[in-house]
Amino acid sequence: MDVGIYVHIPYCVRKCRYCDFASSAIAGREGTVGPYIGGLKDGIRRTAEHFDGRLSVSSVFFGGGTPSLIDAGLLCSVLDEIRKCFTVTQDAEISLEANPGTLTEGKLAAYRKAGFNRLSLGIQSLDDRVLAAMGRIHDSREAAASFRLASRFFDNINADLMLGVPLQTERIWTDTLERAIDLGPSHLSFYSLQLEEGTPFYDDYRAGRLELPSWEEDRAMYHKGLEIIRDAGFVHYEISNGALPGRECRHNLRYWTMEPYLGFGSAAHSFIGGVRYEGGALPFAVGEDPDETIARSRSFTWAEGERLADLKGDFLFTQLRLIEGMDTGLYQRLFGTSIESDVGGALEELEADGLIETSEDRIRLTEKGLDMTNPIEEKLLEAL
Ligand code: SF4
Repeated sequence: MDVGIYVHIPYCVRKCRYCDFASSAIAGREGTVGPYIGGLKDGIRRTAEHFDGRLSVSSVFFGGGTPSLIDAGLLCSVLDEIRKCFTVTQDAEISLEANPGTLTEGKLAAYRKAGFNRLSLGIQSLDDRVLAAMGRIHDSREAAASFRLASRFFDNINADLMLGVPLQTERIWTDTLERAIDLGPSHLSFYSLQLEEGTPFYDDYRAGRLELPSWEEDRAMYHKGLEIIRDAGFVHYEISNGALPGRECRHNLRYWTMEPYLGFGSAAHSFIGGVRYEGGALPFAVGEDPDETIARSRSFTWAEGERLADLKGDFLFTQLRLIEGMDTGLYQRLFGTSIESDVGGALEELEADGLIETSEDRIRLTEKGLDMTNPIEEKLLEAL
């Protein structure tokens, strides 16, 4: 069976003000990196033994956190372990998330040598005031310089950008996007800011100390951005992602099409054999004592998990994110029932409201529906 592998590296230089991902500042935790990596490799070995040579791997994604922050030798040793334990296909897409301010020539050369062939660079904005307000560790000059440096080693680079962030106007957004495109990425991500409880942004917003672009401004920037990327030759293939033809992220497409993957590390999860396992093949907790974590990881069992039957809602969310839309035949094959029999009434109402359009084998969001994903998802969930 062909699978993807996700590896989570939960360390950052410091927390960005909007971030609620499972990651924390490395200061004071440097001593946990070695054991964490050791634990990851242990989990990879045990998982490979469990599947006993039955899996091949055609996509690998190291995300975070900031994977490019830690020692490149340690990081690459995890990829080596994956290669030792699984059959990684010749043409596998092997991605690494990196942040400006943490990349060096030496690290980039080591990544290439180890076999990474795609980089996702967290630029977020190319406006210094916006970057400072977000609490990013780099300014726009450093972001552009990191991209140019990375381009000497990688020809497949995603530029990760954000919409709806403080101080961003349409002019600032289009300027960022155009300058990012000039840098020569093969892929662009453009997610809108989500205010997450427990973050400084959330507290500041609730206390009236943080001003954000309105929903209408955010949407106007989004649609303007789509025009710009299409004009530049990018294919808008997922709500928040565009790629040059053939450069769509194969690993992320797995999540959106419910193809199997294994996750290792804190906050990773796996989906294989029609079952989703929360916590990944190695359920770490960030900041946990490494000895405890490794002991706990040894008791991880593949017997627990959420069955495919419970994942219809996830399927609807993720598939509708694809611009080509949801594959209704796949729904039938996976769940053994037709989507019409499960949520047919809700689909009719959404179509009547002009939010989705249906064809023989697809259901896709309309241009209007792209802005209304939350109410669409709520309606479908209610109907399930
Ligand atoms: S670099 Fe990424 S993972 Fe780390 S704190 Fe910032 S947004 Fe979160």
